[in-house]
Amino acid sequence: MACTTGARSTQRYYSALILPKFLLVAVVAIIGITMVMAADPDPLQGFCVGDLTSNITVNGLVCKNPAKVTPSDFIYTGLEKPLAFSKFYRNSVNTAFVMAFPGINTQGISMARLDYLPQGLNVPHWHPRASEVLFVVNGPLEVGFVDENNFLWANTLQTGDITIFPRGLVHFQYNNGSTNALAIAALSSQNPGRQNSGNSVFGTDIPNIILEKTFNLSPEVVVKLKKFFKSQAQGKRINEEATSEDQSKNLNRLFLSLLTEAL
Ligand code: MN
Repeated sequence: MACTTGARSTQRYYSALILPKFLLVAVVAIIGITMVMAADPDPLQGFCVGDLTSNITVNGLVCKNPAKVTPSDFIYTGLEKPLAFSKFYRNSVNTAFVMAFPGINTQGISMARLDYLPQGLNVPHWHPRASEVLFVVNGPLEVGFVDENNFLWANTLQTGDITIFPRGLVHFQYNNGSTNALAIAALSSQNPGRQNSGNSVFGTDIPNIILEKTFNLSPEVVVKLKKFFKSQAQGKRINEEATSEDQSKNLNRLFLSLLTEAL
């Protein structure tokens, strides 16, 4: 029907605008909900052992031919021992993520083994794709995470305790005891990812002027911090068998020299 009055014409004009607006709001809402619910996708089959040899790129890993899957595809023995300890931080993070353990591909889960010498530290870091439940096998262990209001939720965990580090939030663990500590982590992604607070800024090529302004630091300090975190990225490691007393002396010396350099 043709419009015969100005009022009707105006009404139709607004109706034409309202529909796209509604669609826009709906699309934005759906994208928002999808982002809020973002997690590893549900599996579409019983298992999908990751094929590390495939060149096909998908969200995750391509499934290995089920006819060629064997029971050993569902075993990972790499967590039996700690990896070599970080020389500076006195800890070892040994992960069973999908690239190490392709049997967990599409299952939305992974594990890690965390060992700490006395004064061992797992530095503040976060996982962009996973929440983390931590079980303390040998404690005590100082832990904490920081929420969006920069409030620190800190605890001293004893042997047998578990805690949670919510997805994407900064968290850490520190062994303030005199004996080694051990914890096992379960993470809600086959590939949680990890970013360290220091490395993710000073270990990068972010221009120095940006870092000087962000942290209110002098150019010299930024240069030294970049040098420190870029060397950490290269992964200086110590043997797990070395005595903690020797390491403690070495580390105190190293720490003092780095502090002197950094400041
Ligand atoms: Mn973590």
